[in-house]
Amino acid sequence: MEDIISLSKRRGFVYPGSEIYGGMAGMYDYGPLGVELLNNLKAAWWKAHVYDRDDFYGLDSAIFKDPRVWEASGHTTGFSDPLAECKKCNTRIRVDKELERIGVKADEKMTEAELNELFDANRDKLPCPKCGNKDFGPVHAFNLLVKTNMGDFTGDATAEPVYLPGEACQGIYLNFKNVVDTTPARVPFGIAQIGKAFRNEISPRNFLFRTRELEQADTQYFVKPHENKEAYERVKQARWDWYVQMGIRPENLRFKQHDNLVFYASDAWDVEYNFPTYGFDELEGIHDRTDYDLTQHSKFSGTDLSYVDPQSGEKYIPWILETSVGMGRMFLAFLSDAYTVDEVNGEKRIYLKFPTALAPVKVAVSPLLKNKPELVDKAREVYTMLKKEFGAVMWDDNGNIGKRYRRQDEIGTPYCVVVDFDTLEGDTADTVTVRHRDTTEQQRVQISGLVNLIRG
Ligand code: ATP
Repeated sequence: MEDIISLSKRRGFVYPGSEIYGGMAGMYDYGPLGVELLNNLKAAWWKAHVYDRDDFYGLDSAIFKDPRVWEASGHTTGFSDPLAECKKCNTRIRVDKELERIGVKADEKMTEAELNELFDANRDKLPCPKCGNKDFGPVHAFNLLVKTNMGDFTGDATAEPVYLPGEACQGIYLNFKNVVDTTPARVPFGIAQIGKAFRNEISPRNFLFRTRELEQADTQYFVKPHENKEAYERVKQARWDWYVQMGIRPENLRFKQHDNLVFYASDAWDVEYNFPTYGFDELEGIHDRTDYDLTQHSKFSGTDLSYVDPQSGEKYIPWILETSVGMGRMFLAFLSDAYTVDEVNGEKRIYLKFPTALAPVKVAVSPLLKNKPELVDKAREVYTMLKKEFGAVMWDDNGNIGKRYRRQDEIGTPYCVVVDFDTLEGDTADTVTVRHRDTTEQQRVQISGLVNLIRG
């Protein structure tokens, strides 16, 4: 993971947030290559969940919501992680995660009393990560919602806060009726959204894995009450298949069922990814949420969110099957899976084995020599043509060809095109060398065939 973090910084994938001010815990900025990878992941996810489906609708809901939303959802009272504070240096730990780390089964859904009992039984194995002392205070539930003063011009500290979303999916529930009323959507159908969420994580850690600002790609699939089981299996399988289709190695994925369900859920599984160094951990949650969300919002808002079947006239609150993945965790999983080390001509080579659809740069174009105007002019022509087609094309004329290839390998560019003297005349006129990232093989290709070759 250290190598991946270092490459991310060095090559402009991910920078620590507010770095010039010394950094800010749990915040990261995506650099020029990172934003390309992030956008490609979002586009691939959107394609699979909106464009490739007849029964899905897209949404982009506002970040700020009526504060009652978070009461109805249970976040103001129940959205907490168990916290203990070191009495010596005030470092705060997230108790369930620390217990899990030493092999004790625990999770944030346990009661305060249960967690205190487990923590007390294991205190001798849990030194403070900062000062090493084993002198923590009691465990208490810490609410993760982030408060703001949006719309409050009174300066009154006791005024009801407007929260930042603790999870992005609430916007989907709020717009369920709007989507039914304004589209051909009929149960069963789904709504997909990629939206921001904010959590006052006690200990943001592990790079992009646990951040305080995150983006969640969510689908909520609305089904008839009790018609959830079969659909849930399909939703679960589809998410697994998507990861594998997008190039994640299946041996790095596994499903894990939740032992401890929230009171309203009827089933919950995580897709776990085998993160380097950290090991298997939650990548995505797949939850069978019954009718909880729409029932709660009907109750709290006073708006009936029942669905009326247009054929049978039957009226009911649909049940919801949810998939939710953090884009940062997805980014980290894809980056980790693509990170490959091999040996070429006795030299260690690092390359990112992204499928072309995800690669931040699709193709790099070089003139063999940068001081030969005839080569540069021709290479510019090829570059402009490819840039019009693919956008994410890089001009690279720095250093010798071998160095350029290594540089492109390290950012996952699948193709390098080189314009040489053979491009300019003779039988080989208007052909270029295309070098393939994974095999390092080179082939001679007509310039007119480049677009199709890269498109694959
Ligand atoms: P965890 O147990 O790791 O805190 P969670 O069970 O609270 O996660 P959910 O509320 O189910 O997570 O959120 C759905 C998804 O959002 C997670 O599977 C994960 O991909 C992502 N996610 C949640 N919290 C964070 C975070 N702090 N940073 C990055 N991604 C997150």
